[in-house]
Amino acid sequence: MSSFDYDLFVIGGGSGGVRSARLAASLGKKVAIAEEYRFGGTCVIRGCVPKKLFVYASQFHEHFEDAAGYGWTVGESTFDWTKLIAAKDLEIARLEGLYRKGLDNAGAEIVESRAELVGPNSVLIRKTGKVVTAEKIVIAVGGGANPHAALPGHELCITSNEAFHLEKLPRSILIAGGGYIAVEFANIFHGLGVETTLIYRGAEILSRFDHDMRRGLHEAMEAKGIRILCHDHIQSVAKATSGGLEVETMNNGQLAVEQVMLALGRDPYTKGLGLEAAGVATNERGAIVVDAYSRTNVAGIFALGDVTDRVQLTPVAIHEAMCFIETEYRNNPTSPDHELIATAVFSQPEIGTVGMSEDEAAKRFDEIEVYRAQFRPMKATLSGRAEKMIMKLIVNAADRKVVGAHILGHDAGEMAQLLGITLKAGCTKDDFDRTMAVHPTAAEELVTMYSPSYRIKNGERI
Ligand code: FAD
Repeated sequence: MSSFDYDLFVIGGGSGGVRSARLAASLGKKVAIAEEYRFGGTCVIRGCVPKKLFVYASQFHEHFEDAAGYGWTVGESTFDWTKLIAAKDLEIARLEGLYRKGLDNAGAEIVESRAELVGPNSVLIRKTGKVVTAEKIVIAVGGGANPHAALPGHELCITSNEAFHLEKLPRSILIAGGGYIAVEFANIFHGLGVETTLIYRGAEILSRFDHDMRRGLHEAMEAKGIRILCHDHIQSVAKATSGGLEVETMNNGQLAVEQVMLALGRDPYTKGLGLEAAGVATNERGAIVVDAYSRTNVAGIFALGDVTDRVQLTPVAIHEAMCFIETEYRNNPTSPDHELIATAVFSQPEIGTVGMSEDEAAKRFDEIEVYRAQFRPMKATLSGRAEKMIMKLIVNAADRKVVGAHILGHDAGEMAQLLGITLKAGCTKDDFDRTMAVHPTAAEELVTMYSPSYRIKNGERI
């Protein structure tokens, strides 16, 4: 008989926390999980899911335009933001219910409260003031949007959190940031008819992605009418006398907009969590330091998901949770595999990617082959849309392995999932060449690029 109240106490009911609690409970462990806001966490409540619903909503005006080329006459269309928000909220509530049900069915105790550590095996339930003990504790509290507190006027700005609940759609918005959240929201707002500007201090949006994807998306977004200001940042935000906001930028003077959204990265949500009381070590960014098995420096305390600042993606948090269960409760030590994570940017057009960018591969290997195709997708022929699709495979010349695959264009995210399997399996370019094309698709380009577009040897393009 354990002397603890619980075998496992999970702090945080998001992607990683819910998976840990549900699986441990289904294995017969006595489990409690605390959530201070809503079960489902960032992904379900104010991240991946509502964002993707917004992406769908923002694409319709192009669908209506494209329809004309195919013989359709679409009547006058209007968009109702409040209807979208209401429909989105219903769906999110449904999903939250499923998360709770899953926990309930597995036998985990649901604690609707903030929880904080007060010792290595002790947790304070804020709502009741009760301290409970657990043999093991999983910290899965995620992260929060960087509020950029040093920026004068930052309190007048919104983050992605508020973007999901705006009472009305602004006429114009300035989005600061060059990461995927900034880029996705720029496309969402533009697609819904908002005059949109993106401001980013770097040379090009989406650092760490392949340069053709970055440049190609930048051009496509500008062609749609999104203004992109690189090499620039906001110096201050103030209320304008005429209503709206006045933004002082470093290089583009003053901008007048109705809303400013900051998408400047996400910080681990560890403040006030009681990590000092338990002796849990963090790094300079406030992220919890863990080993290859998600173990913190304190025996019995684990951390996973965004709070560890390894790879901030939902499937990664879930995978880390499953590895924790394998290791701790199934006697099968398994450390999370962070290699070759396929991912997407739900921009318009989308980016789907897995593996190394061209620049990264050129640094890593003596010689690489780059296969690159740029073409107008079939759907755009009759619709008359000028959009181009780019597909790229990066191959290590020494062993012919495909080490990177990148797509810019419709359904790139869906394709990236399948490409992820091929790269994970270690497929070579010859395997791609041996694979029959699916015709007529855009994806067939991936198996019909027979000769390299160019090679890079010892850093030189040949
Ligand atoms: P979270 O899901 O953030 O869950 C942490 C939970 O802990 C929260 O519910 C929080 O309320 C709770 N909590 C915090 N402190 C306490 C406490 N002390 N006591 C009790 N509860 C607490 N990832 C993708 O893979 N694909 C995408 O398309 C994608 N889009 C995104 C879009 C946006 C706008 C954002 C913000 C994120 C997106 N992400 C996406 C990232 C993804 O949401 C996160 O990587 C994922 O949710 C991390 O899961 P987690 O379990 O670590 O934390």
